[in-house]
Amino acid sequence: MISQLNRRALIAWVALVAITAMPFSALAQTQIKYHSNKYSVQDDVKLGRQAAQEAESQFPLLRDETVRSYVEDVGRRLVSAIPSEFQHPEFQYYFKVINARDINAFALPGGPMYVNRGMIEAARTEGEMAGVMAHELSHVALRHGTAQASKGQKYGLLAGIAGIAGTIFGGPGVGQLAQAPFAVYMLKFSREYETEADVLGAQIMARAGYDPRDLANMFRTIEAQGGGGGGFLSDHPSPSDRYARINREAQLLRVNAGVRNDSREFARIQERLRGYQRAPTMAEIQRTGQRSPVGETTGNTPDNPPTGRVSYPSSRYENVSIFNGGVQVSVPNNWRQVNDGNSVWFVPEGAYGQYNGQAVYTHGASFGVAQTNSRNLQSATQDLINGLAQGNNNLRASGGYQRTTMSGRNALFTTLSNVNEATGRPETVRVITTQLRNGQLFYMIAVAPQNERNFENAFQTILQSIRIND
Ligand SMILES: [Zn+2]
Repeated sequence: MISQLNRRALIAWVALVAITAMPFSALAQTQIKYHSNKYSVQDDVKLGRQAAQEAESQFPLLRDETVRSYVEDVGRRLVSAIPSEFQHPEFQYYFKVINARDINAFALPGGPMYVNRGMIEAARTEGEMAGVMAHELSHVALRHGTAQASKGQKYGLLAGIAGIAGTIFGGPGVGQLAQAPFAVYMLKFSREYETEADVLGAQIMARAGYDPRDLANMFRTIEAQGGGGGGFLSDHPSPSDRYARINREAQLLRVNAGVRNDSREFARIQERLRGYQRAPTMAEIQRTGQRSPVGETTGNTPDNPPTGRVSYPSSRYENVSIFNGGVQVSVPNNWRQVNDGNSVWFVPEGAYGQYNGQAVYTHGASFGVAQTNSRNLQSATQDLINGLAQGNNNLRASGGYQRTTMSGRNALFTTLSNVNEATGRPETVRVITTQLRNGQLFYMIAVAPQNERNFENAFQTILQSIRIND
């Protein structure tokens, strides 16, 4: 409650300062205008929300409330410094930290922003971090995503988002999607848009009490650290052009209420981040599909294997909607949901963790969709199992295929035996598959140690509860 009060007071204060300073700034600074946009402000909100959901299923968030709320405070300060003509009451700005090493941040239409841990660690000052955030916020405030899509650009935002958030159940267009889960992230804006985001970013910095030159300095910092910068440091315009342009704009701006320079808190946050295990790169995340929560919940040890000591499945079930409502399923209410790459696991406490850098499960059920080349259910299922067996010498078929049903459609059931990677105990893996209307394979994979039969009933109940709406 106290932090809420402080925050409100802070916003009021920043707004007040911004208003009094405006006549001066408005005369001098570069004027920026909206581009034509055939989408509504509500479309921005809706698209951003879908993309955020997708982003959070792809990227591991850093679960550290201290770091997150610090970034949020900086973000709020910047948001309240957005010039009034670029404010949209419909937008909901929020800020989360991704546990990735790349020096980058991205913001989605309508307000969701994701700041990489690597960016916070690389910045030399809070101002440099705020600079990247102000740049990204400017793309959002100027509605660049939907403006670019309005131009009908082939790989524009809407194509990306429709593909992505259409999810696996999105119908046509799903094909491209398989390779495009990162499309939002890799979205490239035109040179003109990048320059606008730099200029408005510098203006927002000044209004929020930061030195706008810190936005320019961040380019130098990124270069000094061997490049990178991802979407933020786009190759057009060149970093040196951007550096010069921002510093030119900075000369036109007056920094409100003196430069904010809270280096102590920033240093404390960086120190805290250094205490964690090295963050993976975006490319590593994409390769392994690994996205266990990292941070306070798992501690900073390299591995945190599952204990395999778990409670019996509760006899009370709760309905859960997964894959953007594409599937409804009931799961024991003492299990929790873990999003792991493209699949969703439901597991009891103690049944999952990290082992040799991989997410490992001892008990639980997972769901996912596989793209296979075969329209025949049995051969598609075999493709899936071959995929599971790759790099796992212990996985063996232990029975043939049996016919069953899932959500009222034909399904196949088969069991495999395995040795759990983390506990070394023999386990039974049940694979149940059916086909979606678009021909993709929907699967449920349930795992428990071989001698723990009390999970069998739970798996049956879960299987019977599945409702697919494709
Ligand atoms: Zn940009």
